[in-house]
Amino acid sequence: MKIALFSSMSYDSEYFSSANQEFGHEITHFEARLRERTAHLADGFDAVCVFVNDVVDRETIRILKDLEVKGVALRCAGFNNVDLEAAESAGLRVVRVPAYSPRSVSEHALALILTLGRKTHKAYNRVREGNFSLERLTGFEVGGKTVGVIGTGKIGGSFARIMSGMGCNVLAYDKLPDESLANAGIAYVGLEGLLSESDIVSLHCPLNAETTYMINRETLALMKPGAMLINTGRGALINTNDVILSLKEKHLGYLGIDVYEQEEKLFFRDRSEEILQDDQIARLMTFPNVLITAHQAFFTHEALEEIAETTLRNLKEMEEGRTLVNEVRV
Ligand code: NAD
Repeated sequence: MKIALFSSMSYDSEYFSSANQEFGHEITHFEARLRERTAHLADGFDAVCVFVNDVVDRETIRILKDLEVKGVALRCAGFNNVDLEAAESAGLRVVRVPAYSPRSVSEHALALILTLGRKTHKAYNRVREGNFSLERLTGFEVGGKTVGVIGTGKIGGSFARIMSGMGCNVLAYDKLPDESLANAGIAYVGLEGLLSESDIVSLHCPLNAETTYMINRETLALMKPGAMLINTGRGALINTNDVILSLKEKHLGYLGIDVYEQEEKLFFRDRSEEILQDDQIARLMTFPNVLITAHQAFFTHEALEEIAETTLRNLKEMEEGRTLVNEVRV
């Protein structure tokens, strides 16, 4: 299959080339993000391969259809950036990688918690500058704390088990509770109860109309003063403005985010020599109790191998007209 791979980085090229030895597709890498403006690059290709910040909206899909592109392969789990209705009516099949390594993301959520809680990011810089003082580095133990998990699918479930193993009291909220987690001692409660009882709240649900801004002024007010909020889900699960206000009011105690509402204008590129135009992230970066990573929770050797292999297998199924195991539909 002729595949146009958008938003390509050096690691995409490396892992897809290696996995493609098994599948024999013809892959062309484009650094550009897929969007209406760049969709013409897909001319002559059978499918496009996209990542989290490519925009596969109605207009882009219209152009892809005109170019006779047959499929969209997401090399990620989330599919909030694809207009599924438009894809279906244009006859474009959409596939994704539903689970490449849930542990990669859940372990990153834990890394954010431990870094914020023990201030290791500050200690690292201090020691490198010859400052061996412990002043203002007091941390807290995670074991024994109440941890609230919102969304207990593959990633949230893995995270809940990790936190349970660390001796935390784990509360969970999901529209479809997982019986095996309940049997493992994880207590399903309502959203309000979870927010008001947890010392640490971690978001692992998908972004959709119902979950957009689920963390906002009202829900932040339900959280314990000094609580920690972790978001490795999608940026717009959080109303960034409301979170900034809560941090300024010293109500929210810590914020660890791997995803950001406006990340498509920032992440995955070196912008160290640019003038930062995004005032919200600039403000977030000033808080001593905020830790930001740039959508790297998935970024492990294990996950990259799995992503490349599953994506290319999805496209092979499409090419051979077989059942699409990982198809996403409306
Ligand atoms: P999943 O589909 O296995 O689990 C999602 C869970 O959320 C399901 O159990 C579902 O019932 C629940 N849910 C849906 N709507 C809900 C709601 N309104 N309230 C509470 N729970 C709700 O997905 P997953 O593989 O665990 O991934 C979760 C999300 O993590 C993805 O949608 C994606 O946005 C994000 N993600 C981020 C990264 C990263 O690198 N930061 C990587 C992969 C995935």
